[in-house]
Amino acid sequence: MKNTHQVVKGEICVNLIIHRGAKQIGGSCTEVFTERTRIILDIGQELPNIDDEKLKKPSSFPRVKGLYREDDKKIDAILISHGHGDHIGLLEYVDTDIPIFIGEKALEIFNVTAQFTGGKSIANPVNYFKSGQEMTIGDFSITPYLVDHSGFDAYGFVIKADGKCIVYTGDFRDHGRKKKATDCFRSNIPKGVDALLIEGTMMSRISEKIETEEQIEQKAFEFMSSPNRPVFVLQSSTNIDRLVGMYRAAQISGRIFVMDIFTAHIVSQLNNTIPKPGKFKDVRVFYPYHLTKRMFEELKEEKLMKQFNRNWISREELGKRSDYCMLIRNTMLSDLEHIKNLQGAGFIFSMWRGYKKQRRTDRLLDYAKNNNMDIIDLHTSGHAHIDSLKKVIRSSGAKKIIPIHTERSDLFAEAFEKVYLAEDGETILI
Ligand SMILES: [Zn+2]
Ligand SMILES: [Zn+2]
Repeated sequence: MKNTHQVVKGEICVNLIIHRGAKQIGGSCTEVFTERTRIILDIGQELPNIDDEKLKKPSSFPRVKGLYREDDKKIDAILISHGHGDHIGLLEYVDTDIPIFIGEKALEIFNVTAQFTGGKSIANPVNYFKSGQEMTIGDFSITPYLVDHSGFDAYGFVIKADGKCIVYTGDFRDHGRKKKATDCFRSNIPKGVDALLIEGTMMSRISEKIETEEQIEQKAFEFMSSPNRPVFVLQSSTNIDRLVGMYRAAQISGRIFVMDIFTAHIVSQLNNTIPKPGKFKDVRVFYPYHLTKRMFEELKEEKLMKQFNRNWISREELGKRSDYCMLIRNTMLSDLEHIKNLQGAGFIFSMWRGYKKQRRTDRLLDYAKNNNMDIIDLHTSGHAHIDSLKKVIRSSGAKKIIPIHTERSDLFAEAFEKVYLAEDGETILI
């Protein structure tokens, strides 16, 4: 049965369709449905490559009846596992009547990003997940569980209807600071689930070394211990586990910690255990020139920008000192070019190495090399290693293992039994 929502009359049949993501990383969109209820799990944008522009064109959206504004056959709910663009990126295009279910902090981070990029904030009715607390949506009862992932406030789902059970892992790992959350999710997966939709990002990156976030922090500390030079860290502003590690490394090595105004607003949404300006010692805020200009002149966000005035650090001050660790983004090349005394600085590349192919990142790294910076790679994946996948698969005792968010679903079939290799758009009766 392909590309259809037909079900047998008179009984509840539980079905699922991976609209996109059966054989690719990113752009995730899955649906679980009965005759009466339709629920979408994630509505992601495909990961950017050279031709970024086409990603926001409707022709590249997954075709799901009832999801977008012009359709009339409605979806009952959209569940967003976490705030990475490849899971939430197309949310602004969906019908605004459809209720959204998401982590509260994940949505706050999404809204801050929208403010800084001039994007739309979400107009849909919103419900927040409470980890371990069951929610009822039509024929389905769904329990979200917090999981460890590089994206903050990420969840996996246990989905039940009519005696059937589907588990959707979302993106997860168990080598970060929330390892225990993943352990808890795993232990709450009912034994013998009917279908386990499991992410398999690392199947195409098996040679990548997996270290814990604590190990990354220790290495960062050792690197930052070389005196008389500033250290720059190129990392995602929303990778909070990493940011915490870099802050700690900076503190122990006697450095002040500098973040840009965008990152300052991201962390200010989070609880008070996360380093933030004004609340934590030695956290200072840098105002990137082009971002600041756009925020004042185009987006008129004066109040937002002035929120961290007291913690401001200028280019001039940075040029005079070497005892700082500064988080940077790949849009900040021209700012670095205007800070004095950066010859021989330390530079930590703290992202997936695939991002080195991005033009902006490549130019930033060129700049670092041309200034004789000491560049090191310090990163660990946000995704589960094959050993962690094995643990989830074994403890679930799933009747059907359906790989998702992977470029190598074929390797699942080699490594595990009961693997079902789905096609995008195929209806699978559970
Ligand atoms: Zn993802
Ligand atoms: Zn993710």
